[in-house]
Amino acid sequence: MSQASIVGLPSTQSIAVSLQHQFSGKPCRICESPFIAYVRHIPMRRMRLSNPLYYCMECESFLLPQVYMEPVDQLQRDAAWHISVEERNTAWADRFFDAAFQKNPRIQSVLEIGCGTGTLLAVGAKRGLRVHGHDTNPYAPAIALERHGLVLDTTLWSNETAKEQFDLVVCISTFEHLTTPRALMAEIANYGRRTGAEAFISVPFGTERDAWTHLLEAVPTAPTNPLYLSDVHINHFSHKGFQKMAADYRAIEMEPFTHGWAGYWLRF
Ligand SMILES: [Zn+2]
Repeated sequence: MSQASIVGLPSTQSIAVSLQHQFSGKPCRICESPFIAYVRHIPMRRMRLSNPLYYCMECESFLLPQVYMEPVDQLQRDAAWHISVEERNTAWADRFFDAAFQKNPRIQSVLEIGCGTGTLLAVGAKRGLRVHGHDTNPYAPAIALERHGLVLDTTLWSNETAKEQFDLVVCISTFEHLTTPRALMAEIANYGRRTGAEAFISVPFGTERDAWTHLLEAVPTAPTNPLYLSDVHINHFSHKGFQKMAADYRAIEMEPFTHGWAGYWLRF
């Protein structure tokens, strides 16, 4: 008996179309699979709304539609948050650079995309690196200048507009906010191929199958629940999803690299 003759069984194509429809007709942002399924609604802390959580059955990542834009006062609080974690992040940045220099002793310059108030770059500069940072938060540059003497760029970084060459591109806690994470991966990959730069990318992993108990919490109440920041963290990458996205942009090396932040060291 052929599959088509089983009464009531929808074709693979029609299943894919109906699941796509639930996510506004869009495929998985991370791996482009059409097979994403609604899981449950997640209450959001910053708005009195709930946001539908979806699961990608191919790359095993979780996704939320973007329904929230940071108001100005929240951006101000976000910038202040970077100061509150400066001591922790300074220690993590030291661990990161120790390991990065071991990995590649030739690194002399660092570009950071989504650098916040410049804590990691300040540590890099103290170690003699030429550093440059981009962050779109309008409150970040004044803090970076005052605390670290760094001049930040508030424009969106892209391979097209990048004039200076850097040995290492760092991008920490940025991809989880983006409606088009693959576009930034493409930019970093193209820059890496064009200039030879290597990259370190970190996202807050933590939604792997063995951690799914977070789905049982009706209202995420602790920052240890990955869904706690569901207003602004709209991509919850699985390792499989992150690796798939990097592979799609022809990463030739992809090494788990956890020194301070958990992420991957990439070469293109
Ligand atoms: Zn996916």
